[in-house]
Formats: sequence, structure tokens, C-alpha cells
Amino acid sequence: MNISGIIKSSFIDYPGKICTVIFLAGCNFRCGYCHNPELVKDNHISPVININEFINFLNKRKKFLDAVCISGGEPTIYPDLPHLIKKIKDMGFEIKLDTNGTNPEVLKNLIGEGLLDYVAMDIKGPLDRYGAIVRHSVDLATVRESAGLLIQKTKESRLNCEFRTTVCRELLTESDLKRMIDEFPCPPKWFLQAFKNPGEILDQGGIYSAYSKNEMKEMGRRLCVNVR
Ligand code: SF4
Repeated sequence: MNISGIIKSSFIDYPGKICTVIFLAGCNFRCGYCHNPELVKDNHISPVININEFINFLNKRKKFLDAVCISGGEPTIYPDLPHLIKKIKDMGFEIKLDTNGTNPEVLKNLIGEGLLDYVAMDIKGPLDRYGAIVRHSVDLATVRESAGLLIQKTKESRLNCEFRTTVCRELLTESDLKRMIDEFPCPPKWFLQAFKNPGEILDQGGIYSAYSKNEMKEMGRRLCVNVR
């Protein structure tokens, strides 16, 4: 496992909490609009901090932090993820996990062991658009299963969850978004986020653009979901 990025203090990545965000290298998707191309392409990119240094860092910040957000890449590809989360939980921090939902067993076990407090799952689009968006083979049953699990845990009030969808004009129409939302009845909070181009994305040859702020706001209103 390789921590390839860190935000030491964030007020926006865990709703209502001050958290540190770590980014684990490696992902099983290849979304063209991905903002972290180096981290996604190369699991072995140099770590910015090793696990022991990170734990020491957290020990020194206990007074100032509520939580740790584990992002990627896709954190659930690592078999030692539960071990890391347990170490952090034992220090008293809450845990938020960002995931693309392709490892429902890992999610199920982490939730079952009480190791997660918040899960943000990316729903990439309606299921029949997944392959085109993530540009990789995907077992859609895993996505459905993870989403179903989070819906159930939210209903039982056992976990805070959100679904989120990055919206590119070239990849998703409003009618795609409507189909996607219909495919996952009774979801937790759902956030649409407009694609933003930080200058470097994974698919350098592709064309990706954002809907305007107003278009996003209106789509969110018509679809009854939140817009970030
Ligand atoms: S945007 Fe796609 S490729 Fe990038 S980290 Fe998320 S799931 Fe992986």
C-alpha cells in the first residue's frame, strides 16, 4: 500500500468534520476525466509518507483532527486496507472511505467490523454507460451490490453514505442521469459534481467539458439530487 498524496487538514472532504485526506495509488478503473493520472496509472509511484510516519503524524494531530478520509485511486484494491483502518480507528479517529464500489466484500467486512463511519461511493452513470466512462472492464454486479449495501445501511441509520457522480457533457446527458438515478431506488444523499479540468487528466486525447453552473443547478433541481 502506497500513500501517494496527503492533505493534512481539510474542512471539505468529510461533512462537518476536520480531516486528513490520504490518497492511495492504484485504481481498477481508467476514467478519462480522472484528476489523478499519475496515481492511477502507477501503483508504485513514490510515497509521500510511509505508513509509520503517517501514524506518527496522526498521533501528533489528535487534538486538531476528527477524522481520516481514505481516497485514491481505489483504496479497496489493497488487502491490507482493513489493517490500516483499524490502526487509525484505534487512535480515536472517524473514517471516511471514498470508493468506486467494485469490492462489495471488502465494504461489507469493513462495515461489519464497525471500521467505517462515512462512505462516499462514485456512481459513474447508468449501468449501460459504465464501460464507456470507466474505460475498463467492469463487473456491474459488484457496483449494484455495493450500492445496495450502502442503501440498506443508510436506511438502518448504521452508516453515513453518499453517492456522487462526476458529470461531463460528452459522457452523460440529463436523460442518462435520470436513468442512473432510477436504477438505484431510495439512495442516500446523491451529489452531482461538474467535471473540472485541473490541466492534467487521464485521457489526454479525449474531449471532456463541463455543463455550466446554471445547467448543473437546473438538472439537479429537475432530478431532485444535490449539486456540488
Ligand atoms: S476517477 Fe476513476 S480512474 Fe480516477 S481514481 Fe476515481 S475511479 Fe479511479
